Amino acid sequence: MGHSTFAAPPPTLRDMSGDSPDMFGDTPPWETEEQDDAPSAAELEAAGQSSMFGEPAPTPPPARVAEQAAPVDLSPPKAAPPAQPYRVLARKYRPQTFAQLIGQEAMVRTLANAIKRDRLAHAFLMTGVRGVGKTSTARLIAKALNCIGPDGKGGPTIDPCGQCEPCTAIAEGRHIDVIEMDAASHTGVDDVREIIEAVRYAAVSARYKIYIIDEVHMLSRNAFNALLKTLEEPPAHVKFLFATTEVDKLPVTVLSRCQRFDLRRIPSPMLAEHFAHVCKSEGVAAEDEALAMVAAAAEGSVRDGLSILDQAIAHADLDGEGLVQAARVRDMLGLADKSARRGLLDAVLAGEGASVLDHVAQQFALGVEPINLVRGIMDLVHRITVAQVSGAADAHSAEEREALEGWAKGLSAGQLHRLWQLLLKGHEEVKSAPDPLVAAQMALLRVMHAADLPDPGMLARKLEEIAARPPASATAAASSSPSGSGAAPAAALPAMPWEPLVEMVEREVGIGMADTLRMQVRVVSLEHGHLRYAQPPGFNEDIAALVRNALAKATGAAWQVEKVAAEGTPTLVEQAEARKAAEADAVRRSPLVAATLAAFPEAELIEEERQSAIGGARRNWRR
Ligand SMILES: [Zn+2]
Repeated sequence: MGHSTFAAPPPTLRDMSGDSPDMFGDTPPWETEEQDDAPSAAELEAAGQSSMFGEPAPTPPPARVAEQAAPVDLSPPKAAPPAQPYRVLARKYRPQTFAQLIGQEAMVRTLANAIKRDRLAHAFLMTGVRGVGKTSTARLIAKALNCIGPDGKGGPTIDPCGQCEPCTAIAEGRHIDVIEMDAASHTGVDDVREIIEAVRYAAVSARYKIYIIDEVHMLSRNAFNALLKTLEEPPAHVKFLFATTEVDKLPVTVLSRCQRFDLRRIPSPMLAEHFAHVCKSEGVAAEDEALAMVAAAAEGSVRDGLSILDQAIAHADLDGEGLVQAARVRDMLGLADKSARRGLLDAVLAGEGASVLDHVAQQFALGVEPINLVRGIMDLVHRITVAQVSGAADAHSAEEREALEGWAKGLSAGQLHRLWQLLLKGHEEVKSAPDPLVAAQMALLRVMHAADLPDPGMLARKLEEIAARPPASATAAASSSPSGSGAAPAAALPAMPWEPLVEMVEREVGIGMADTLRMQVRVVSLEHGHLRYAQPPGFNEDIAALVRNALAKATGAAWQVEKVAAEGTPTLVEQAEARKAAEADAVRRSPLVAATLAAFPEAELIEEERQSAIGGARRNWRR
């Protein structure tokens, strides 16, 4: 197990480190600022933490993680005296330069070019999921635009000095010309009007007056309209920096006036690396796997990840060893143990029901939520599928890689897709079930039973064989007339074949006429030049003349056509439907399908579209 071990100062140092960065010899660049003391609640709020912590209490652990944590002691670490609140990592490691903003290189490059060429837009829009650094970026841009350099003579730069008065004031959120507003709490037109009126006045002390509007999509329509007027012709000294998680909700009129930056979710490996870096700076040792877990749980958000890391470090301190361990992080996050997860999938695929239930029970006892268990297996199946397609497994450990590659070789693509479908369904059930544990057990057992079934390809071939096995039953069904009016006529088939004649009509006269014949004509007798027919129940239209003309046109001969009071042979449509019903019945009765239907009561037999016996493909005869 690879530990990233660093020369760790005593754990208590961490609590103080926010105020004593010098203790680490080389001061990390991001600590050159914000050497202020405890942040006030308002500062934390401004730092964008409020959404993370509910109440902006300046001590960890964050409530969000606590909610899903395993049953472990969650009391705050070492009860730091309220006089010296611990500065949360997410705030402490808020990037202060573009270089520290991880995962957004493309955006930084574009911005650097714009600054270099002095082609700065009046409005910027930062989009992306929460926690990817939209507000941080907005502040960095504010710094970049207003930095005057250490000597007070610099111009706009992609590399703000971080030392001049504008830089420090912006970093601390107290610059008079950089106005931050959260649209979530100021949605009204009055709030915007306030801005617009202030826009007219020049910046007090900086180069640009900068408005940072967070969650801008929350503004009301009227507010947008008011804003738009300003955006159309903003005074040269004003810049707008908008941030939003839901860019779709912005009016096009606003979008079209902004230079847009899409901030990407940060990939897990990059996050893990960043967290390793943070741990090192904090003097905390952490297992690689633990950091990988934190990174995965962060789902692309640096801020969320750092909050989880905060919590993990607090747990490590509680343990007394100060080492952030994978096992503890797993407990904390309520994640399924990777190896246990693999064991469970093994049991499912091997069809060992008792073992499946054992695994579920064990994981549940360890505090793993049933829903996470199913998700864990889904994640595994997904990664096996990817490994199969790409030929390389994305694994956190050698054992995991070996297992993934083994499965990728052993399972067919069809099987994997079916597993995924079944798990997805199970996931829905677990989510909505009154008892998630029971639902998870049932879902996994169902997956296990289905693993026995032949793969869909083989099933399809079997069905084809059955369907192709002809007519014994089909003929029987066809003659037990679906019209329900008693026994079918024992009369021999007409002397002249009817179906080819109808096809001739279709070719020579048209499909409409041919369909009339197929639907309405029960042949009683058919000889050259003479058709006697009956109509099935429900058809009363007199079609004799039509039929006569059609047959004459198709055959080039005169026809005598008469309707008689007799049963007649079922119409072609009736025959086709009877055949179909008989086939479906035969398919349904075949042992394979019967087993499938028993396993999946909600399954439906879906007929594959194929050349129908009459009238070409895809004809739906149901009226
Ligand atoms: Zn500066």
